[in-house]
Amino acid sequence: MNARPVKEVIEPQFVREGAGVRLRRSIATRRLDYLDPFLLFDHFGSDDPGDYLPGFPMHPHRGIETVTYMLDGVVNHKDSLGNSGTVGAGDVQWMTSGSGILHEEMPQPKNGKMYGFQLWVNLPAKHKMTRPRYQEVLSARIPQIAREGGVRIRVVAGEVDGVGGAVTEIHADPGYLDVSIPAGRSFGQPVSRGHAACAYVFEGKGIFGAEVNGGGVKVSSPNLVVFGDGDSVFVRTDRHPVRFLLLSGKPLGEPIARYGPFVMNTKEEIDQALSDLRNGTFVK
Ligand code: MN
Repeated sequence: MNARPVKEVIEPQFVREGAGVRLRRSIATRRLDYLDPFLLFDHFGSDDPGDYLPGFPMHPHRGIETVTYMLDGVVNHKDSLGNSGTVGAGDVQWMTSGSGILHEEMPQPKNGKMYGFQLWVNLPAKHKMTRPRYQEVLSARIPQIAREGGVRIRVVAGEVDGVGGAVTEIHADPGYLDVSIPAGRSFGQPVSRGHAACAYVFEGKGIFGAEVNGGGVKVSSPNLVVFGDGDSVFVRTDRHPVRFLLLSGKPLGEPIARYGPFVMNTKEEIDQALSDLRNGTFVK
């Protein structure tokens, strides 16, 4: 096994999005525009409800998937197709916008807390105009692996120790793992060579890109660790525990044309999305 080295560590930037939600963004920033197939990564959560209650009123998406994973509070959503629901603590919503949806996403606190993540995954050209689809998985249905030494892994997507994740049949063949490592332990996980891989550290600190016998880069929360290529990811801890999301996926290697919530392959397709929106023909 060839452990992946740390290529770079991206410090999230605060941005305001939607109707004024304050987010920490680490992909779709000046330092990291695109980590093919990942287009955007946001971390939201605050003790001040004013930072998130404005929410994300009705807005469109085309050509991408949005993945919402909550740890505290809820996101209430409804869309142009008549779907509505709530993504609660520990739940995931994997939404394939395909040809287009209009939806709203409104965060609400529970016991004063609201905390979660949104990842955007690109769709290949041949699936950009596919029929919209949701995979919504409640917390209890997300497999949790307990390894020796207290290492815990929630398998949102991908496979760990022979256990398949909750979300399946996604083109990018993604891994989406929520990994907790106590102090003084280690964690290794195969990740297909050639796939993009990154770890979003959101609690504690760990030593990333380490080999079993040492090395690696110490990273504290909140930061995004981007890995170079290899067969596996290795992380260890010393005096502190760490918790992070380990994301991986197959790069598309296609041109992208990006305009806010639309990500297509060409400028003409973006213009088409805008004219569909104006003409009321956006939702197919
Ligand atoms: Mn959205």
